[in-house]
Amino acid sequence: MTLLALLCLTCVYVGILAIQKMHLSNPNKNAPFSVIESQTTDDVKTEAIVDWGNLMIAVHYPSTPNEKINQQLSQYANDLVNQFKSSAHKNGYANDELYVSFTTHKSGEFIIGFKFDIIERRTNNASRNEVQKISFNLKTGDRVVFEDYFDENNQPIIAQIPNNIVTPEDTENKKLVALTFDDGPHSRWTNELLDVLQEENVPATFFVLGSRASRYPDLVRRAFDSGHQIGSHTFNHKDLTKLPQGDIDFEIGESAAVIERITGQKPAFTRPPYGAVNQAVQDTAKTPLIMWSVDPEDWKSQNIDQIFTHVMDNTKDGSIVLLHDIYGTTIEAVKKIIPEMRQRNFVFLTVQQLMAARGKNLENGSIYYQAAP
Ligand SMILES: [Zn+2]
Repeated sequence: MTLLALLCLTCVYVGILAIQKMHLSNPNKNAPFSVIESQTTDDVKTEAIVDWGNLMIAVHYPSTPNEKINQQLSQYANDLVNQFKSSAHKNGYANDELYVSFTTHKSGEFIIGFKFDIIERRTNNASRNEVQKISFNLKTGDRVVFEDYFDENNQPIIAQIPNNIVTPEDTENKKLVALTFDDGPHSRWTNELLDVLQEENVPATFFVLGSRASRYPDLVRRAFDSGHQIGSHTFNHKDLTKLPQGDIDFEIGESAAVIERITGQKPAFTRPPYGAVNQAVQDTAKTPLIMWSVDPEDWKSQNIDQIFTHVMDNTKDGSIVLLHDIYGTTIEAVKKIIPEMRQRNFVFLTVQQLMAARGKNLENGSIYYQAAP
């Protein structure tokens, strides 16, 4: 056993002893809990600051696989302790108590949130029960400032937020672009694309076909859980303008239902096949209609360099790029496009994030091609 492991074990043991002692020594204080207990997950461990002088301090805080997150959490816990100590000393309350426990909430692969229950009991009977919440991007270790991650009952709103959250700082002084992928999911190429996007930490938007999504629900789920946006490209990829109303209803409605069954959410956007729209389509879509401003015709050329060059030459700030995740050549082109775009100061967003970043209020049935500043 290494020295470090021994030290850790000792810490935990001392922590348990101290907490037990605290419990035993406070039998008549109507403590709001008997022993503080923190809920962790597989990859989250509990660290403790226990100070058993006159002040009674037992602070749990998490440690994660990400060192950058751990530094911030340790800083946070130490700040709580130091603030508590200095206010206790200032007020002359020598027997004050501080207990902090936490629960862990994970959302997809990207977001981890911690809810801290902070209880201060003062010698003068003034006490403070407070809940504080901190969320991080597990990949980058950055704080995620997203107030609404927890609802008013302090429950995490996992289903309602994109897993890959973009903060205003992320887009400051950057050009914005949304990569969109149509006609999938494809059993091989969608998987490979998701690997590339994961590796590069790039969020994208998938306009899936309902018929294919129902065949490969795991791929749609993987994309959704990874923080990508899932839009509808209708059920069968028909030209909606050539269909009777009943068939338009089916193409749009059934695809949305399939996506909702898989992800738990209705698609926020629809992209009509071939970009073909008329009044009936606009009236039937219960979402905004999202087109594109850059089209390298990757399906036609299936030529990596041609796709790459067209995208690089035509993408501007706010562009929506049309690609298809059903060709290996497109995935290869994306591998070249991502680093080159970053070189040119672009940041990648989902369509929803792009529209939000540009302050666009989208209306159902209206058509959008891009989001220039
Ligand atoms: Zn299509």
